[in-house]
Amino acid sequence: AAGAPGGAGARALEVLSRVFGYDAFRGDQAAIIEHVAGGGDAVVLMPTGGGKSLCYQIPSLLREGTGVVISPLIALMADQVAALEAVGIRAAFLNSTLDPHEAQAVEQQLLAGELDLLYMAPERLVLQRTLGLLQRARIALFAIDEAHCVAQWGHDFRPDYLGLSVLAEAFPGVPRIALTATATRQTHEEITRNLRMEQAQHYVSSFDRPNIQYRIEPKDRAREQLLRLIRAEHPGEAGIVYCLSRRSVEEVAAWLSERDVPALPYHAGLDARVRQHHQERFLREDGLVIVATIAFGMGIDKPDVRFVAHLDLPKSIEGYYQETGRAGRDGQPSTAWMAYGLGDVVSQRKFIDGGDGSEQFKRNARSHLDAMLALCETVTCRRVQLLRYFGQDSEPCGNCDTCLSPPKTWDATVAAQKMLSALIRLDRERGQKFGSGQIIEVLLGRENDRSRQGRHHELSVWGIGTELSEREWRTALRQLLARGIVEAEGDYGVLVPGPQAGPVLSGETVLELAVDRAPGKASRSRGA
Ligand code: ADP
Ligand code: ZN
Repeated sequence: AAGAPGGAGARALEVLSRVFGYDAFRGDQAAIIEHVAGGGDAVVLMPTGGGKSLCYQIPSLLREGTGVVISPLIALMADQVAALEAVGIRAAFLNSTLDPHEAQAVEQQLLAGELDLLYMAPERLVLQRTLGLLQRARIALFAIDEAHCVAQWGHDFRPDYLGLSVLAEAFPGVPRIALTATATRQTHEEITRNLRMEQAQHYVSSFDRPNIQYRIEPKDRAREQLLRLIRAEHPGEAGIVYCLSRRSVEEVAAWLSERDVPALPYHAGLDARVRQHHQERFLREDGLVIVATIAFGMGIDKPDVRFVAHLDLPKSIEGYYQETGRAGRDGQPSTAWMAYGLGDVVSQRKFIDGGDGSEQFKRNARSHLDAMLALCETVTCRRVQLLRYFGQDSEPCGNCDTCLSPPKTWDATVAAQKMLSALIRLDRERGQKFGSGQIIEVLLGRENDRSRQGRHHELSVWGIGTELSEREWRTALRQLLARGIVEAEGDYGVLVPGPQAGPVLSGETVLELAVDRAPGKASRSRGA
């Protein structure tokens, strides 16, 4: 990391082409690099694939000393360092995978000024010993990657990140750059405050990924739906399929393979060598599908992923956007497709309520889930909703399912009142609460053991909902849950009136719900 003559801008461009082999900066890269190379602090919000790495790598090369990169992704450090070394950059990492001798060698290199970049995890950096070491070295800058981990409100909070605020005082002359692909206003504010970056320049890129088509379908035998999508729109193309559990990862991968879609499983329970092998094959070979838990994808840079599919509901919009963002990094048309159903909503609620987090943690988790559900149930442009979530206004995109085939809606006020009445009557007159199945049986007036035992046929709500089919009730209920008109509660996910039930019961608001589209209907025709 030494200086060459010329303005920072010209020198940055020279490094970009000589070291990295690219001929132009993208988006805010040039401005960020110039600012940080000149000694300024920066907070950078840029979507996945936007090119954050160069924003600290090039200033590290332009400034005297070593750029220290703080990242929580210990598993990726060796790969990142290898990639840098391959282009002639002197890079190393310090983490728990090194033995004491190896760590000592890296420390010596640092002190001797022989490193351009040094990666480490936050828990390592905040040790007195490490801070002391860094004080004796020449530091070009601190880059705080995945900076949203400092936000307690966020979906990926890591307490160790809070310790990074010491850098402001301990290294007053060293520029700091915080980077993230998560950009809600709250997260942005927390990064600025918790990292003590009040003096920083802020760079907020557009989060739009116009080449990605967003589609969310009601779940109706999700695997078949997925197979139809692959066969009709992405045959022989690379894709990522996300599932919640390790078991469904294995099952879906096997199921696809049996149907001539080459697919590999990836989850944290697999042997590290197998995992590594599958990841490498996915990167190297054409047209492989990887079926994975969310353990897969951080730091994966494959430009031609043509689709990302979710077979289970993600826990937050941040997660969803990060995962879908792995599609189409090359700018070519790509699909972000998801199937979700009533069961997803209920089981995630149960999972949150039954978890052992603090009340604050559960409140956050619920509000993340609610935002995700609102996206699923929107009858307007999905992209507008997504971008608004990240604080960006936009016009309907014309390239999402709701734009391409606007959902039909119906006046569901009376149906919602019937549903709520059923919950209220069962609770008041029988002291009983039920999950979705039994409630719908009551509305349809279908006898079973539980209804005979509870004498449900004597209730005024018995059989008042026969104008809808069971399937239509499930569709309506999913939307009522998403809007907080009905809520799933407790370990069994029993249904109760939600916080938004009042105005519906009193008839103050007209409730418009969407009619479920038939699966697959909103697909784009190939080549269009
Ligand atoms: P992020 O960390 O924001 O997800 P990366 O830094 O990994 O993104 O960059 C994504 C991809 O874009 C990488 O393959 C990177 O080499 C490439 N890239 C970044 N900047 C440029 C540029 N100015 N020109 C061409 N390719 C670039
Ligand atoms: Zn749209």
